[in-house]
Amino acid sequence: MEKYVKVSELKPRLSELRKDRTVGFVPTMGALHQGHLSLVERCRSMCGVTVASIFVNPAQFNDREDYRRYPRTLECDLEILENAGCDIVFAPTEEEVYPERDNRVFDFGTLDKVMEGKFRPGHFNGVAQVVSRLFDIVNPDKSFFGQKDFQQVCIIKSMVKQLNLTTGIVVCPTVREQDGLAMSSRNMLLSEIQRKEAAGISRALFHAKQQAGVMTVTELRDETIRRINLSPELKVEYVETVDAAMQTVSEWDDAEEIFACVAVHAGEIRLIDNVQLK
Ligand code: AMP
Repeated sequence: MEKYVKVSELKPRLSELRKDRTVGFVPTMGALHQGHLSLVERCRSMCGVTVASIFVNPAQFNDREDYRRYPRTLECDLEILENAGCDIVFAPTEEEVYPERDNRVFDFGTLDKVMEGKFRPGHFNGVAQVVSRLFDIVNPDKSFFGQKDFQQVCIIKSMVKQLNLTTGIVVCPTVREQDGLAMSSRNMLLSEIQRKEAAGISRALFHAKQQAGVMTVTELRDETIRRINLSPELKVEYVETVDAAMQTVSEWDDAEEIFACVAVHAGEIRLIDNVQLK
């Protein structure tokens, strides 16, 4: 596996490889787990060269403490990527990604006004800044993202359209722990009891999936909130039922595809998850 820190060294290498191979890209913030690895595996199966990036992007953290606390496990990540058969890892410094201050403001319409966008102001603008910058550096044929960050996928697709980018976006299913908890780098920050109770989030979502069409959408939303909040360790920030374009849905007939999305606090740690209800 080749490792690059500098854009000026990575770019010519990728130009060379691009001559006879497709380039696939998996952007990450490190602290890697099986969820990330599923993206690497998918990328390897579809592309000639797999590039993964590791960069904890300050621009997307609206909470300084969350940024400070975010796990950084570079040595371990490199070993994991090497074992997973990743070809190239790009682990830049902040100066490499943002040689100049990025003042761009994206317009995502209603997409970033709800859910994560509402509770984490500026978050998606920071995501769009870093991902567009990374796309510009790597110039991938295909890029791989997790369904776990459902709203992020919508934002990235919108950004690709707005900027007329050529990369294909491949969305990969959420990988879960044995007890159902969606894998997340933040899970390692949970206390033992929080970790155990956090399984209540996916349990409530899977229950909602079973009840889809039986209860009304509103009843289902309220029941999901109630079930998660049963644990004294968990506090729901939101449960939203939306369609594939992030529009709120209140009737089962409102959309062809309906998703339940949640954000939950376990102490200081904020977790998100979603399931497709219909
Ligand atoms: P992150 O390092 O959290 O920025 O995530 C990097 C990529 O991995 C994003 O596209 C995430 O959606 C994806 N990802 C994170 N957790 C999971 C998971 N449990 N299953 C599938 N993909 C995931």
